[in-house]
Amino acid sequence: TPVLALRNVEKVFGRRGSVTHALNGISFNVGKGEFIGIMGPSGSGKSTLLNCVATIDVPTSGHILVDGQDLTTLSKRQLAAFRRDQMGFVFQDFNLLDTLTAYENIALALTIKHARPSAIPSRVKSIAGTLGIEEVLDKYPYQMSGGQQQRVAAARAIVSDPKLVLADEPTGALDSRSAAVMLDTLDMMNRVLSATIMMVTHDAFAASFAQRVLFIKDGRLFNEIRRGDLSRED
Ligand code: ADP
Ligand code: ADP
Repeated sequence: TPVLALRNVEKVFGRRGSVTHALNGISFNVGKGEFIGIMGPSGSGKSTLLNCVATIDVPTSGHILVDGQDLTTLSKRQLAAFRRDQMGFVFQDFNLLDTLTAYENIALALTIKHARPSAIPSRVKSIAGTLGIEEVLDKYPYQMSGGQQQRVAAARAIVSDPKLVLADEPTGALDSRSAAVMLDTLDMMNRVLSATIMMVTHDAFAASFAQRVLFIKDGRLFNEIRRGDLSRED
């Protein structure tokens, strides 16, 4: 089973006179451990697509399956639990809690997902080791560099082993150095921690980090490029 499968997903906003077809029958699969990018111009339907996969929005028709579970069959409450337990989110502004240390920020993500308390310390230390942030675990966000905060945020998104990690314009408002740190972190989550990632972006540099990029326009997929298709080596 693919981690994510979209089957003819349509989303229509509005009614009567003013109707917008934001998604016009989108179908694709994302396999386990894949890092895919969704690219398209403003208004092409990227946010709507991401919101539907994130269970924040509901498709008008079609199906979205995560690890074989059809999201369109779940109630609002089940969707909230599914989002909490099975998905990780990466935000460009980190979203760390200022009053908690790095350790506490990461541990909180496990507590929210009802992890066994006795399992939390070893899990946090293991992920911190992998991401190279052991030395900042006792620090507060304001005591860390931007890159360290980014890694703590990545640790928090992935510590509970979500089926799917979603990144919405992760480099959108960042300067080029911060954007590079963000993309390195996503790359590390994918390659070292085997995270399955779907990233929505209008930034070609960001998209170049994905293994496969789907291009969307007017709510339809119109092209797909795999990394390697454009390079001579690899
Ligand atoms: P993108 O993220 O690629 O910029 P969006 O998914 O935000 O595109 O928008 C796709 C289309 O759907 C646009 O025409 C947009 O105006 C419309 N749209 C998005 N959200 C809503 C909404 N809540 N109500 C009405 N129209 C919407
Ligand atoms: P972005 O594409 O950067 O996420 P947008 O400007 O497309 O931002 O949308 C911002 C918010 O406004 C989203 O929640 C979207 O659903 C909503 N939105 C977008 N277009 C419309 C619209 N035509 N009518 C109502 N809401 C909209």
